[in-house]
Amino acid sequence: MRCLKKKMSQVFSLTQRYKRTLQVMAAGVFLIYMTLVLYQNVYGYSSGSNGQELQYGPADPAVAAAAAAVAEPQNVIAKRDNSVNSVIGNSHVINSVSSSSGQRAGVGGPPASYPTRFDKSYYDYQNGQLSVTGTPKPPTTELDDLLISVKTTKGYHDTRLEMITKTWYQLAKEQTWFFTDTNDQHYQKLTNGHMVNTNCSQGHFRKALCCKMGKEYEFFLDSAKRWWCHFDDDNYVNVPRLVRLLDEYSPTQDWYLGKPSISSPLEIFLDNTKSSTEVNKKVTFWFATGGAGFCISRALALKMLPIASSGKFMAIGDKIRFPDDVTMGFIIEHILNVPLTVVDAFHSHLEPMEFIRPETFHDQVSFSYARMKNEWNVVKVDGFDLKTDPKRIYSLHCYLYPFFSICPKTIKRR
Ligand code: UDP
Ligand code: MN
Repeated sequence: MRCLKKKMSQVFSLTQRYKRTLQVMAAGVFLIYMTLVLYQNVYGYSSGSNGQELQYGPADPAVAAAAAAVAEPQNVIAKRDNSVNSVIGNSHVINSVSSSSGQRAGVGGPPASYPTRFDKSYYDYQNGQLSVTGTPKPPTTELDDLLISVKTTKGYHDTRLEMITKTWYQLAKEQTWFFTDTNDQHYQKLTNGHMVNTNCSQGHFRKALCCKMGKEYEFFLDSAKRWWCHFDDDNYVNVPRLVRLLDEYSPTQDWYLGKPSISSPLEIFLDNTKSSTEVNKKVTFWFATGGAGFCISRALALKMLPIASSGKFMAIGDKIRFPDDVTMGFIIEHILNVPLTVVDAFHSHLEPMEFIRPETFHDQVSFSYARMKNEWNVVKVDGFDLKTDPKRIYSLHCYLYPFFSICPKTIKRR
C-alpha cells in the first residue's frame, strides 16, 4: 500500500514537473515573440541598407559636402494629401503641405528586390503575392532606387549635355542615363558608359521622340529600379528633392507623377476608321508634359507592359498621332485608368521661370530654360554674369550647391 502511494506521488510529481516545464517554455516563447514585435515596431523592416541616407556617386569632396548639406529636411510643396486633393477631371491636383505618407490604404511593403519582366517572380509580383502586409513604416526611398533617363540628341551633346554633366548629373552619376541618336566616344567615356544610342532618328518630330521614349521605358523595365523619371536635356534636376518626393509614394502602387502644361485635360478624337463602332471617338485625358519631367512607379510600368513594351509604345504614338508625352498620358490615364498626380514642383520652360522664387529653389524638382523670340525664359538667380551663364543653370546649381568646385567662392549658401 505504502509502495503504491509512493509510486502514485512520484507519477503525480512527474506530471506536475512536466506541467511546470511546459509553462516555463510557453512563457519563454511569449517573451521572445513580444520582443520581436516590439523590435519591429521600433525599427521597422530592414531595407537592406542604412536607412534614409542618400547615396551619391564617387565624389568630389564638394559633391559629398553638397549631398550632406541637402540631406536635411526641406519644406515640401507638393506632397500627397487625400484630405485636400482637388480633382480636376480625373486627375489629382495636389497643392498642400502635409505630412501624410504617400501610401494608399492597405499598401504593403515592397519585396526586397524588384522583379524585372524576365523574372518568374514578376507574375507573382503583379498578383500582389510578394507584398508584405502589416509594415509599420513605408520603406525609405534612396537615390539608387531611381533610374533617371534624359532624352537628348547629337546636336545638343556639346551644349545641353555638357551643362548637365557639370552640374546635377554629378549628384546622380550612377542613376542617370542619356538616350541619344548617335555614338559619342567623348560623352560615353565621360559618363562611364551611360550614353545609350537608341538608333532612333535624329530630329524633333513625333516618331523620333516617341522612339526614344519607348527605349527609355524599356530600359527601365530591364532594370531592377523602383522608379523611372524622365527628363529632357534642357531640364535641371534637383536630385535630392526628387528622391524626397518619391519617398512620399510607394513604388508598389501605380503612380504617374508630373505636371500638365495645359489647364484642362486634352481632348483628342480617335480617328479609328477600321472600327465601325469607334469612328471619331472623343477621349479626354491629362498628360504630364515631358519638358518638365515625370516619374512612373515600377508597379505602373509593369502594368503598362502588355500595351507599351517591345516597340508598342511607338505604335500607340503612331495610332493617336501625338507626341511622346501625350502618348504616355493616353496609355496611363485613358487605357489604364491611372490618374496623373500633379506635382507642382516640376517645371518646364512652358511656364515663366522668373516667377520661381529663390527661397523655394530647394523645394523644386526640376527647372528648365528656353529662348523665346529674343528673350531667355530663365530662372532669375544671382551668380555668374549673363554672358557666362545665359541659361542660368550654372548659377542655379551654385545657388543650391555652392560647395561644388565649379562654383565661385563668393556665392554663399543661403
Ligand atoms: N530632341 C531630340 N531630337 C531632336 C531635337 C530634340 O531628341 O532632333 C530632344 C531634346 O534633346 C529634348 C527634347 O527632345 O530633350 C525636347 O527638345 P527641345 O527642348 O529642343 O524642344 P521643345 O519640345 O522643348 O520645344
Ligand atoms: Mn525644351
